[in-house]
Amino acid sequence: MLTRRTHTCGSLRESDIGADVVVQGWASAVRDRGGVSFVVLRDRHGTVQITADERSPDAAREAMKGVRLEYVVQVRGEVVARYRPNADMATGAVEIIAREVEILSGTRPMPFRLDGHADAHEETRLRHRYLDLRRPELQHNLVVRHQVMLAARKALAELDFLEIETPILTRATPEGARDYLVPSRVHPGWWYALPQSPQIFKQILMVAGMDRYMQICRCFRDEDLRVDRQPEFTQIDLEVSFATQDLILELSESLIRAVWQAVLGREIGPIGRMPYAEAIARFGLDAPDLRFGMELVDLGPALAESTFPPVRSALDAGGIIRGFVLKGGATGNSRKVLDAWTAFVRNYGMGGLLWGKVAADKISGPLGKAIPEREAFLAAAGAEDGDLVLVGAGTPGTVNPGMGRLRVHVAKEKDLIPEDTFAFTWIVDFPLFERTDEGALTSVHHPFTAPMPEHVDWLGTDKVDDILSDAYDLVCNGLEMGGGSIRIHREDTQNRIFDSLGIEPAEAQDRFGWLLDALAHGAPPHGGIAFGLDRMVMLLTGAASIRDVIAFPKTTSAQCLMSGAPSGVPVADLDELHVANTKQS
Ligand code: ASP
Repeated sequence: MLTRRTHTCGSLRESDIGADVVVQGWASAVRDRGGVSFVVLRDRHGTVQITADERSPDAAREAMKGVRLEYVVQVRGEVVARYRPNADMATGAVEIIAREVEILSGTRPMPFRLDGHADAHEETRLRHRYLDLRRPELQHNLVVRHQVMLAARKALAELDFLEIETPILTRATPEGARDYLVPSRVHPGWWYALPQSPQIFKQILMVAGMDRYMQICRCFRDEDLRVDRQPEFTQIDLEVSFATQDLILELSESLIRAVWQAVLGREIGPIGRMPYAEAIARFGLDAPDLRFGMELVDLGPALAESTFPPVRSALDAGGIIRGFVLKGGATGNSRKVLDAWTAFVRNYGMGGLLWGKVAADKISGPLGKAIPEREAFLAAAGAEDGDLVLVGAGTPGTVNPGMGRLRVHVAKEKDLIPEDTFAFTWIVDFPLFERTDEGALTSVHHPFTAPMPEHVDWLGTDKVDDILSDAYDLVCNGLEMGGGSIRIHREDTQNRIFDSLGIEPAEAQDRFGWLLDALAHGAPPHGGIAFGLDRMVMLLTGAASIRDVIAFPKTTSAQCLMSGAPSGVPVADLDELHVANTKQS
């Protein structure tokens, strides 16, 4: 009979010796040693050893023999000191001598062993997510996720934020991805979009006088997935009235500090700010990993006279030459390693990798052929005998990401990244626009981001590419953790931005008229930011994949293997929605 438990499996200690207890959980280990049987019982709180021996009644000893891995079991018994304490278990000083054992539930054959999960294919684990979630590592990740949400809500409530929900069935919000669309049954031919973010609603909440908004919200973006992306993901979303950039960064730092304190008990100091241009110059990326050095250097001037074809053609085409130095790397890096790194940078569109091993008498490798003047080059690169210099030559659009990512890749391979360190930085002074391959302007953030006040007059002039935005990203350990901006709160400036983006007034009215109308009715200056909750939890737990911090994640092909979504639906249902399949997988 089901009885109320007195303790959770992880809670018993030496001080409980002598107590009569009831525990319930899953059998995570089962052993039978002749007349003595052991079961390690597991629940979310931990594990405890149950023993049935001559001290147990016959019925309990018999029932213990019937327990199999992952059966759900209830045990009543006495807590005793363990003959051989187990220092690896929190409850390892004690065990429970079974007096009553009841199997509450059995299991079909397990598709994989929970303790040997590394052997099971991820597809199998995702199909049986309820089993994978029983693993302590995943349970820990979900506990941390809960702690982050709790700490965030508490910290933001203390800062006078209100949590306000915004619609899921809505109109498109431009964040640069494809929308998920939902057909309207009541309005044939019309569609809702799932929000890519609550951006427009949260701005409208500022016009509505809500002052400070927060929401832990789901966002939906239909884009090609990578290891750290999911089609639906969670943001801690903020918007603040009468905000300057300084105020948003200050409030955000309070939030980050509270979360790190609550989850890890760690102090996070003031977070520095780095202009976007500096991040690109020093690290090649706008989300730099500051946990280690090996910064990129500009080697264009030192190679200006080079006649070596890859360098010459890059320089003649107005490109860049940038590289970094792996200290002591002249030894221990075979041709195979260098070929793998070359293949790595080719993924970013670079033609190849110029490498040179520095020795007292020469620089070997392709780079040796490219250097007109050894000493000047070594001084520019900051290299000396025994070092390996890795260099990329080409367009900024390929060399910066290629060499920037290679820097991180090499540091990981060579174990140069200190563990258990959180290197935060704000990236500020982003360009407002970037150019598409066709030369058109698009927003770097979204079209509601304010230009720096001193650059507003450059809209519509030939200085438009130089306009900086009042936007900011928070980066930690090379991951973008959040981003936001001060918004345009004036209708006339917003219209000038749409004009620069080539959005005609009629189109702007059709797509964003509801925001423009609100902005025209007494909009306070405002700004905000959104933090990626999933990535934050990845950082706090050290999880390698975003799927490990979400209870029910999707695969990289956007499927839920457990529920089988997406799936076909009966044609009659589609008829009701006034839509038809033109293709089916
Ligand atoms: N809505 C933005 C985003 O999802 C964040 C912001 O600007 O507040 O990235």
